[in-house]
Amino acid sequence: MTKQLLNKFDIDKIRNDFPILKTIVHSKPLVYLDNASTTQKPQAVIDKIVEYYTSYNSNIHRGVHLLSQIASEEYEDVRTKVQKFINAPMSEEIIFTKGATDSLNLLAYSLGKQYLKAGDEVIISQMEHHANIVPWQILEKEIGIHLLITPIDENGDLMLDEFETLISEETKIVSLVHVSNTLGTINPIKEITKIAKSYGSLVIIDAAQSIQHLPIDVQDIGCDFLVFSGHKLYAPTGVGVLWGKMDLLNAMPPYQTGGDMILSVSFDETFFNEVPFKFEAGTQNIEGVIGLGAAIDYLTSIGIDKIKKYEDELYEFLRLELAKIDGLRFIGNALEKSSACSFVHKSIHPHDMGTMLDMDGVAVRTGHHCTEPLMRCFKIPATTRASISFYNTKEEILVLCESINKAIKMFN
Ligand code: PMP
Repeated sequence: MTKQLLNKFDIDKIRNDFPILKTIVHSKPLVYLDNASTTQKPQAVIDKIVEYYTSYNSNIHRGVHLLSQIASEEYEDVRTKVQKFINAPMSEEIIFTKGATDSLNLLAYSLGKQYLKAGDEVIISQMEHHANIVPWQILEKEIGIHLLITPIDENGDLMLDEFETLISEETKIVSLVHVSNTLGTINPIKEITKIAKSYGSLVIIDAAQSIQHLPIDVQDIGCDFLVFSGHKLYAPTGVGVLWGKMDLLNAMPPYQTGGDMILSVSFDETFFNEVPFKFEAGTQNIEGVIGLGAAIDYLTSIGIDKIKKYEDELYEFLRLELAKIDGLRFIGNALEKSSACSFVHKSIHPHDMGTMLDMDGVAVRTGHHCTEPLMRCFKIPATTRASISFYNTKEEILVLCESINKAIKMFN
C-alpha cells in the first residue's frame, strides 16, 4: 500500500538510508513515531561527521594549516546551504547556535534587552513551547515588559480576531511557533506577520517543527527572525540556527563574549567582530554544523515539496486510522496540521499507553511536551503523541493502531 503511494518516492531506498530503522526493540521491529522530539540520522550525515573526525578535524577560523582551512571552508559552506534552504538574502545572516532554545534565548537576551523597555508588549500564543515562553518571562521580571498571550480555539487554531484585538502600537515583538509540537497546528504565519508589521512590531518565528516538514522562505513570510534546531532536521544534536535581518543583527549586542567573536582585545577596550561571528563566541559545534550541511544536502536531494506531499498523505492516514479506535480523543483538530498528532484515551493514562506501545517496538512520546500552559487550556495533564517523518509507512501506522487496541483490551 505504501509502495503505491510512493511511486515517485522510493520508501525502501529512503528507509535504507537510516540505519537505525532496522533496530529491533523488545523483539519487535522499531516503529519510530517520536520524530517531533528528534529525528533519526541518515547514513550521509553519519558519514560526514566521521569524515570530519577522520580527515580534517581541526579548529576553525584561526589556523593557517591545511586541516583548519578545510574545516573552516566546510563550516562556512553550511551557512550558504542554510541560506538557500530558507531563502535568506545573505549567508552572513545565518548564525549557528546550540538549537532553537539557544536561538530564542539569544533573541530574548540580546534583542530584548537592547530593544525593549518597561511597558512594551511581547505577544506569544497559547500553544508555545516552553522555549518560547520562559525567556520572555525573564524579561517581564528584569525589564518590566508585558507578556500577552494570544488564544486558540477548542480545535487548536489561533483565533486571528483575538490576535487583532490584542496587538497594538505597544507591541514590539510577536514571537510565534510555526507548527505546534503538541497539536500539529500550522499557524498562518504570513498573515500574522503582515498584521504585526502594520503595527510596527518585529516578528520571530519558531520553526523547530516546520523546517523539516514544509518549504520555508523567510522573505516570503516577511518575518524578522526565524529559529530552528538541527536535530529535528535529521542533523546532529547541539546545533541550531538563528536567522535574522542583517540591520537588526548589526544593532544587537553580543549574547556571549570571548574568543572568535572579537576583532581586537586590549585591557582598555575590546572591538567586536562582525555578524555572524559576533554571535558565535568560543569554539563552535563544528561537527554539528558540518552534519547539518549534510542533512540539508540529503533533504534537498529528495526535495522538501515531495517530502511534504508524502507526509501529508501519511498524516491523513494516521488520523483516519486513529479515529477508528474506541475511546480515543484527538487533542488538536486544527484545519492545517503537520506531523504531530496528540491523543488521549478515556481510561488509559498516556504514560501507561506509551509503555505498552514500547513493548511492541512503537516509540511515541507521552507527557506535556514542554507545553504545560497548553495542557492547562485543554484541562489535561498529558497526551500521547505520534509524530511522523517521511521514512514512516502506512504499515507502521497500522502497527501503532494494533498496539493501541491491544493496550485497550489489556486495561479493560
Ligand atoms: N520549539 C518547538 C516548537 C519545539 O518543538 C522545540 C523542541 N521540542 C523547541 C522549540 C526547542 O528545541 P530544542 O530543544 O532543540 O532547543
